[in-house]
Amino acid sequence: MSKRFTVLTLFPELINAYRDVGVIRKACESNVIEIDTINPRDYAQSSNGRVDDTPYGGGPGMVMTAGPVYRALAGLKTDKAQTRHVIYLSPQGKTFNHSAINSLNHYDHLIFLCGRYEGVDERIVLNSVDSEWSIGDYVVTGGELPALVMIDALARTLPNVLGSELSSIEDSFHSGLLDYPHYTRPAEIEGHAVPEVLMSGDHGMIASWRRKQSLGRTYLRRPELLEKMSLSDEDIMLLESFLEDN
Ligand code: SAM
Repeated sequence: MSKRFTVLTLFPELINAYRDVGVIRKACESNVIEIDTINPRDYAQSSNGRVDDTPYGGGPGMVMTAGPVYRALAGLKTDKAQTRHVIYLSPQGKTFNHSAINSLNHYDHLIFLCGRYEGVDERIVLNSVDSEWSIGDYVVTGGELPALVMIDALARTLPNVLGSELSSIEDSFHSGLLDYPHYTRPAEIEGHAVPEVLMSGDHGMIASWRRKQSLGRTYLRRPELLEKMSLSDEDIMLLESFLEDN
């Protein structure tokens, strides 16, 4: 059974445009994942399809009204055998990161509620949302980009989404470290050569060089990640050697 992502949005075309490209399109075509949208405007009861109103207490901006979102969620069916979890994208939520991927991928059906304007009526958040997630400490105009960021990051860790040659296992954060640097042809660009070891054909030496780069980069760029890891004696040796070279 494929993993299902439903996005509740006033702008389904944003989601569909991303769904129809590259790795995500292929994953949908091969039924590894399913991405569908639901538009609260289709559940509005006013003749002009209104889904927002002015905030109680006054102030700038509009608020997404609860009724259309409630009805859209109520009309959304999840297969009986599947577990479902409703996420509200919000700058006030927990910051999305690699460890959140593992916990959210336990659910079969994830529903992403995208706010617009000043956000949704708080009673939706209190009564119909299971968790709130932020993509970082800044505010974007709507929840669609955050939803796509999360869906993409979740999907690429699922089996059969990336080709084996593109395995996410070596990506940054998977092992707790940042990824090593990558090079491709040509071997030299304006006097800058590819590290010799990568051309040696010696797989042991290449693996050791890559581990050393990952350790070194993590130490220099994100030292707090290294503090969470228990490094082997060999890792410590590689890191010392990286620091001597740099
Ligand atoms: N007034 C809200 C606040 O300050 O908390 C921000 C509203 S924002 C303009 C509109 C919508 O964009 C939010 O309801 C949310 O769905 C989405 N959004 C904005 N920034 C976000 C972020 N960093 N992470 C996740 N969603 C975000």
